[in-house]
Amino acid sequence: MLTVIDHPSPNSDARDRAVALVVLHYTGMATGKAALARLCDVAPIAIRYPGPWQPADIDPNHALGRVSAHYVVEEDGRVFRLVDEKRRAWHAGASSWQGEEGVNARSIGIEIVNGGHDFGLPDFPEAQIGAVVALLQDILTRHALQPEAVIGHSDIAPARKLDPGEKFPWAKLAAAGVSIWPRRVIPPGGQVVGEPGEAGAGVVQLQKAFAAFGYGIALSGTYDAQTEAVVSAFQRRFRPARIDGVCDAETLDCLADLNDQLGLGDAPPVEA
Ligand SMILES: [Zn+2]
Repeated sequence: MLTVIDHPSPNSDARDRAVALVVLHYTGMATGKAALARLCDVAPIAIRYPGPWQPADIDPNHALGRVSAHYVVEEDGRVFRLVDEKRRAWHAGASSWQGEEGVNARSIGIEIVNGGHDFGLPDFPEAQIGAVVALLQDILTRHALQPEAVIGHSDIAPARKLDPGEKFPWAKLAAAGVSIWPRRVIPPGGQVVGEPGEAGAGVVQLQKAFAAFGYGIALSGTYDAQTEAVVSAFQRRFRPARIDGVCDAETLDCLADLNDQLGLGDAPPVEA
């Protein structure tokens, strides 16, 4: 059963879009208590909250660096509600998904307490994942959303965000019906389909396939830094065994299958 503890944050404003997405984050701080304090602070001066914060996290209308999320899920499974789902929380920063920027306006943000990359990538305890799954089941049902509506911060800001990180058990979420996972996976690795420095029609095809899935990627025709970041973000979530930004046959196979499951258009053919 899902029990939610009210812990209101003043950091929100009116939402002008319907909820279409749920964005998962890790807090990336030493403790859940520190994260809750920062997410509720009306003037969270950076020095008081050391962490991987960036200027692009900050909404230009809120220059004091105010941030928030709708929910925080503690390691022991306690769920705190900070912002009413009807309002816009400030969790995504500069972001893009499915061709639209400003993801905060149309999403619910969930901060999962975890030190992340700055604190040795700790495992997510089972009690915590159980609570995340229960919360997502509740949200998806109430807003009539499909499992693919659940995405990571690194999906919508691949050039600057790593959370919820490669330790996050996306496959478990998919098994519980609150995320998606590739069905067919060819043997690990396989031949390189695209890598940094390449250019041409093949790269455009790859970029189109990642854009079809939802990533904000320009069809530059060059396997540039943004392409490498998107491929890494995809691997971090769906093929965490090797996150190198090189698109090998296995990576492309995962992408092609997900696009196929979601009816999102053709990916380039895969040859193992
Ligand atoms: Zn985040």
